[in-house]
Amino acid sequence: MRVTVLAGGTGAAKFVRGLVRVVPASEITVIVNTGDDLEWWGLHVSPDIDTICYELAGLLDVERGWGRREETFRCRDAMGALGEPAWFSVGDLDLSTHLFRTGQLRAGEPLSSVTVELCRRWNIAPRVLPATDDRLRTIVTMDDGDVGFQEFFVRRRHQGAVHAVRFEGAASAKPAPGVIDSIASADAVVIAPSNPVTSVGPILAVSDIGAALGATPGRVVAISPIIGTAAFSGPADRLMAMRGLRTSAVGVAEAYRPFLDVLLADSSDHALASEIEAAGAKPCFTDIRMRDAAQAERLARETLDAIAR
Ligand code: GDP
Repeated sequence: MRVTVLAGGTGAAKFVRGLVRVVPASEITVIVNTGDDLEWWGLHVSPDIDTICYELAGLLDVERGWGRREETFRCRDAMGALGEPAWFSVGDLDLSTHLFRTGQLRAGEPLSSVTVELCRRWNIAPRVLPATDDRLRTIVTMDDGDVGFQEFFVRRRHQGAVHAVRFEGAASAKPAPGVIDSIASADAVVIAPSNPVTSVGPILAVSDIGAALGATPGRVVAISPIIGTAAFSGPADRLMAMRGLRTSAVGVAEAYRPFLDVLLADSSDHALASEIEAAGAKPCFTDIRMRDAAQAERLARETLDAIAR
């Protein structure tokens, strides 16, 4: 069964941890958000690609949900001591990824090729694709003006009123090689339990990707990152409200309305069944928490079972 996943970072990594236990790695493609990317100390950092690759390579700090395990931050601390910005935590091991990627990009390689090369060197079997090789940046409008996504998420700890979110470059961005094919030829497209606005939103904003989701003969299924009226973590609930979506599993169905077939929502949200249906998706209720690999595996299995029914 060919499965293509649309992924952000931490929530998606948890889901992928389960999926690789259920589907052969060679049948999995993960299309990853690049709206979070940033230039940091002159290096190109792709936080969501790194989170997914570290997960698949067994290098992720699973407790934290980002960065590498057994990490140290001596370089960051030394940069801080030099008076340089140190609010974005790049670890010492993590730094090697950004140095490698930046070197390859400067040599003229597209981000998708650099990602293939990293996956080869880390023995990652599933295919990992950036949504686009073109520049795509999530910009958050706050009281004092526009800030980049990491400035909002990390430096400001996603506090403060958000008036708008936009994806700079999306209008002209082309899907990376393989992205459209992997959607068109998938038996299932799974939208991971990622932030619908800032993790999945940038992927869908690449217009050919949105169109491919509408046209794929495969089934499209999403897992809600919202339980009750709150996200498990992060600002998804607030950002959905800002976008005029309901802050519940119903809002997740609304966000993916034109192409979503099935939504997995938490059993405690069973009362939302008819509203989810009215938003165009078939609801399927289960325990959507992933506290460990076993729970993630069960959820991955149930996700694929739900579309088979
Ligand atoms: P980010 O780029 O690191 O924010 O990554 P994601 O967008 O992939 O992940 C954040 C989302 O994951 C949040 O909206 C959370 O609500 C969701 N999330 C985190 N843990 C879980 C979980 O155990 N189950 C589900 N269903 N969603 C989760």
